Parts: sequence; structure tokens; C-alpha cells
Amino acid sequence: MFETTIAGSLPRPDWLAEPETLKGAWKLSGVELEDGKRRAATEWLRLEEAAGIDIVTDGEQFRAHFVHGFLEKIDGIDWNKKTVMGIRDNRYDLEVPTVTGPLSRPGPVHLEEVKFTRAQTGRRLKFTLPGPMTICDTIADEHYGSRPEMAMAFAEILNVEAKDLVAAGVDVIQFDEPAFNVFIDDVNEWGIATLNRAVEGLECTTAVHVCYGYGIEQNLRWKETLGGEWRQYDAIFPAINASAIDQVSLECADSHVPMALIAHLKDKEVMVGAVAVTPDRVESPEEVAATIREAMGYVDADRILPCTNCGMAPIPYEVAAGKLRALAAGAALVRQSI
Ligand code: ZN
Repeated sequence: MFETTIAGSLPRPDWLAEPETLKGAWKLSGVELEDGKRRAATEWLRLEEAAGIDIVTDGEQFRAHFVHGFLEKIDGIDWNKKTVMGIRDNRYDLEVPTVTGPLSRPGPVHLEEVKFTRAQTGRRLKFTLPGPMTICDTIADEHYGSRPEMAMAFAEILNVEAKDLVAAGVDVIQFDEPAFNVFIDDVNEWGIATLNRAVEGLECTTAVHVCYGYGIEQNLRWKETLGGEWRQYDAIFPAINASAIDQVSLECADSHVPMALIAHLKDKEVMVGAVAVTPDRVESPEEVAATIREAMGYVDADRILPCTNCGMAPIPYEVAAGKLRALAAGAALVRQSI
């Protein structure tokens, strides 16, 4: 009970990439870079195991960005044709590549890194992929002319990719959909349908991570506009609860999301975010335990997976490591007390 896991990325070490920033540039190249990514992933796995994390990840050490790391190997995208796009409903501008033809996947994208990671640990392994709606909010379209149609094309590609990763030994596939609580009407109209397509026939546990984003400045400013109580999930959790996904995440630590919202997820396992993405403070095990106990007021204990709130790529390495230790220690405290 209270098996711990990780919602997304972990910081890349400062010898591998520019630290404490999103998409920090690689510091190595060629064979050295590939070796470095493997070493960084292995070091996180050892740290996760030592901390007591039950369902481990590679911490996304192999990619600089969770969406573009996947898109780099997909055909139909022109990387030289950059379009400035106001993403997450114009929260910030990003120069993004452009879809100029039919999308296809000439071969597996993340298979080699998963094979490597699988061989490094005996624990259950989770792998994260960007969700179809979030991909479509991070790329320009000159071919499909319809976001739902382009999202469905990505969903089909993600599904084939996920099947390859499950065959290589992944136990949990998580799709990241931070765009879900921005485009609420779209989630209900076509977002859930594309997510269901992405997990169709997967013989593993499936998860979706919906979130309010990393602790970067643009997100922090946006969060200030949301008021004291963030209730966006009220409008999308009923549909997510009716989806084919097994597990759903919620950032519960140090956020304005009312914990009561997880009561919508009555048919799901809930990844209870019990450590925040704050760069300057590590929660105590007692704080983690208090968050888990609060969640137990709304969700049966056997459906709770204590988890990180969101990706921790932009925070200091040692802070993230401390948060993983606190997460596992907090879950152990609750386990001992019931
Ligand atoms: Zn997130």
C-alpha cells in the first residue's frame, strides 16, 4: 500500500546539461553524450532505489524536453520551419516546429533507452510520453487543419510506441497532458478520445499526468491569476474518471488545488502529489505523511500512490534527491501508522 512513484522529469546533473533551467543545453556530444545520459539515468535509479521509491523512472535523462524529445524522430515535421506560437492559451510564446505532411513513425523513438533502463533495475518501471493534446499545443500545423484530427494522428503513433516500450518491459506508461486544464472544453470534446486511443490495447498500467506546469516564471505568473482555489479539475475529472486510464495525478502539496477534487476519481488510482516543485525547500516526511492522510479522506487508501507533484527538471539536483527521500519516508510513516 502507498507505493511511491514519480510524476515526471528529474534534474539532469550539471556535468551533463546546463542545470536549473528547462531545456538546458547538453554539455557533451557524440558518444560521450550518449554515455553521459546512461550514467545519469543509472545514478537516478540507484538514488530512487536507495530512497525507497517503488515504481522508478529514468528521470527523463535522455531528453532535453518532454515533447520535442519525442517529436524529433517523427516524420511529417519540418524543424526548419519555425512558427512562433502562443502556447497553453497564449501563456507564453514558444518557437515551435511545424507539421507539414502526414505524421508517421519510421521506427521506435525511446526503445533503446528503455531497454537500457530496464536492464538496470529490478523494480517496476514507469515511462512518460507526451499526451496527444499537449503535443498539438506545442507544434504548429500546416497540414491537418484540425487540432482533433492531428491529435488523433499523434495518438495512433504514441500507441504503437507505447506497445514497443511495454514489450521491452515497461510496467507503467504515463501520458503527460498539462494542456488538459487549459483547454477544458476540448478535453471533453476530443481530448479524452485521443487519450483513449493512445492507450488502446496496452498490456500495462496506464496513467495520465494533468498539471499546472513546472515552477517556471510564466507558470507562476499564470497561477497568480487563478485565484485562491484552483478548480479547473472539476470540469475535466469526471471525463477522466470515465476514460480507459488507470491512474491520475494531482498536485496536492503546496498548491491551491482543493484536495476534495480527487473524489471525482472514484474509479481510478490516484497519484497524490506530496512533494512540490519548489526549488528551495525539501518537505519533511511528516509533511508528506500529512498530505497522504488528507487524501485518505477522499480516496480509499489502497488507491493512493504518493508521488511528486510534477516534473522536477528545473530545480537543483540535491533538492530533488531530498524530495524523493522525503516522499518515500513520508509514505513509510503512513504505512506504519495504519
Ligand atoms: Zn506536470
